[in-house]
Amino acid sequence: NKDNSSNTVASNNVQRSKSFAFRAPQENFSIQDFELGKIYGVGSYSKVVRAKKKDTGMVYALKIMDKKFITKENKTAYVKLERIVLDQLEHPGVVRLYFTFQDTFSLCSSFNLLHCLTLFSLIYCEDMALESCEGGELFDQITRKGRLSEDEACFYAAEVVDALEYIHNMGLIHRDIKPENLLLTTDGHIKIADFGSVKPMQNSQITVLPNASSDDKACTFVGTAAYVPPEVLNSSPATFGNDLWALGCTLYQMLSGTSPFKDASEWLIFQRIIARDIRFPNYFSEEARDLIDRLLDLDPSKRPGAGPDGYATLKMHPFFRGIDWSSLRAQTPPKLA
Ligand code: ATP
Repeated sequence: NKDNSSNTVASNNVQRSKSFAFRAPQENFSIQDFELGKIYGVGSYSKVVRAKKKDTGMVYALKIMDKKFITKENKTAYVKLERIVLDQLEHPGVVRLYFTFQDTFSLCSSFNLLHCLTLFSLIYCEDMALESCEGGELFDQITRKGRLSEDEACFYAAEVVDALEYIHNMGLIHRDIKPENLLLTTDGHIKIADFGSVKPMQNSQITVLPNASSDDKACTFVGTAAYVPPEVLNSSPATFGNDLWALGCTLYQMLSGTSPFKDASEWLIFQRIIARDIRFPNYFSEEARDLIDRLLDLDPSKRPGAGPDGYATLKMHPFFRGIDWSSLRAQTPPKLA
């Protein structure tokens, strides 16, 4: 599934409030302060590397921004927004941002002076030291196991629901929920990552400047083709329901090994999404099929979690029978493959 349809397309625009104090400080570090290890992953505008801080021995996932690409593609707005949002989120199911730094050495070493000056104008384009998720992507767990059992999928889906409830209560839509952005800790708990497509709603608890605007119109859609809901393809405004559709696609993928609308091209994927062309394998339980069917409702307000009862409807669905929502993080997660 790691084809064109799993690449993220996103665009946001936000500015930091002058009086705003970051929780995760901007440190005066350079890349030489770290012992670099393996590359965890490569995104569309960043490289994420395992890095041990030489003086403290602390291990981080350094998200090193491709400043040249970000400048050229005019992506600074959503790089800034990701940093601002991550700074204010605190939940065991959300990847934590510890600090940022402006790596002036790598910034200047490969460019001429003029280029360097341009790049320095990107004052918020900082590299990020994130909590290291050593268990890798949920995507790779699904690939290694072929597909997950209903018990495994139920546990992972419950941890995603728990974190999504928090994110939505903060007034944020993630807009890029997919197995590649669900990371696992060493012991196998889920953390939602990659807030590069996040959208703060008007009542958001997240501090952004009041005149922050979104230039969504510049894009055909925000998110990833295989997980994008039909209303986004029809240019409807973003709602929390967008993430619930993507959760439905992700749960389908956990149980079957592939995303529900997988096809040979983005165009064909979009046709299947608009037609709601879903085929359930016969080994899905009645509960799994029912939950996915409801999450993939064409009407975003009817998806469980989006209605007037909030997340209660979603958490009380029979698929989650047996889940103790208050002690999820204390439970033993599925074994990593
Ligand atoms: P995208 O093109 O999806 O928007 P991006 O440039 O925003 O990508 P991320 O998705 O944040 O980059 O990271 C790219 C990959 O790096 C992830 O899919 C994951 O495999 C890995 N990664 C990201 N954050 C971490 C982390 N905290 N710990 C371990 N690996 C990580």
